[in-house]
Amino acid sequence: MGESMRVAYDVEELRRLRDGPGVQHPRFGDLLRPGSVRMGPAPVIAQTYGERSPYFVHLSVTGRCNARCVGCVNSSVTDTEAFATMPETDPERDARAILHLLDGRPERDVVVCYYGGEPLLRMDKIQSVMSFLDQAGGPFRFQHLIYTNAMLLDRAIEQYPEMVKRASLFCVSVDGTAAQNNRVRPGTDLDVIHRNLGALANFGRGNVLAWSTLRESQSLADCLDEYAWLDREGLADCYFWHWVETGESFESLDRFMAAYERDLRRAMNWYVARLGEGRPLAFVHITELLLYLLTGKERGSSACGVEKARNFDIAGGVVHSCADLPPEFAIGRIEPDGTPVVREADLKSLVDYKDDLGCYEWAFMLTAAGVARCRRSQATRNV
Ligand code: SF4
Repeated sequence: MGESMRVAYDVEELRRLRDGPGVQHPRFGDLLRPGSVRMGPAPVIAQTYGERSPYFVHLSVTGRCNARCVGCVNSSVTDTEAFATMPETDPERDARAILHLLDGRPERDVVVCYYGGEPLLRMDKIQSVMSFLDQAGGPFRFQHLIYTNAMLLDRAIEQYPEMVKRASLFCVSVDGTAAQNNRVRPGTDLDVIHRNLGALANFGRGNVLAWSTLRESQSLADCLDEYAWLDREGLADCYFWHWVETGESFESLDRFMAAYERDLRRAMNWYVARLGEGRPLAFVHITELLLYLLTGKERGSSACGVEKARNFDIAGGVVHSCADLPPEFAIGRIEPDGTPVVREADLKSLVDYKDDLGCYEWAFMLTAAGVARCRRSQATRNV
């Protein structure tokens, strides 16, 4: 039996909040009660869209970074030094490890995601991994995705044009317009990012996914303003936002929720307006939610599928189920010849937070209500 893994948060505090006042919304009541967020009603359209499901593997190229973003996951989940001193990728060993991980898998499309730290600090290593994989042949079609803060893209275009050409997607972090972005992402400069994205567009790049990390001190509206500019200038193709992971409490959750709700309405109004114009906005998380809602599709896992033990992350010669987990959560290692040695681990416990949040209680209530309805209609028939 595998070892149980649990991400740290205060279960007792969550329980107290759920048993007590919850999180009150002026119109919707307690947002923590089971069923306060529901997908429904029944599906209204058949699934006519295609969905690709390539094999993803993350490779942390280096733990070093040229920025110091507030609450960076690389420093908040563990001490910064552990990441800064994490051994960098050994291109040949790690490329072999990726090929081993693919052994016997049915997928032919494989996306290799270069992660960090800031991966472009070691462009030479990224290019070596790409070359090794592309030369290895075999049945796989490799695509390359690079996470980056975009500060070194100009240098990448100049010094490693092959690497830039091979990358089919750049995931670029942008946390708002200049004042907000530069405040929460010290070491980055939005003017430089804009210039570099312009250079990438002129170079004839792959796609750009812009993404924002929200912290309490930030506004989603400001992030939307920035994405509106990137969209207008043709510098980004799609967008999503998410929240920073932090152990710190909100100074005022009520205030943040009210501001977020106002900004979310604005985002959705813009989204709907663009749909009406026939030019859908590629807010990837919203679009996925809507498509699943309209077709009644259920994902059946967490968004990243960490608990499915399908995609692994390689960082500093060890194997993780997720690149954002601290080193002590490693589930295996890479031998010097590239052979991955992965132990069995209970990854399902990584999504135990759903249990603590009461997600399954609502599913149970739905099932119980269905059984009760069924019994009632049987009783009516018997009478
Ligand atoms: S650019 Fe990425 S890795 Fe670097 S400090 Fe910011 S969030 Fe962390």
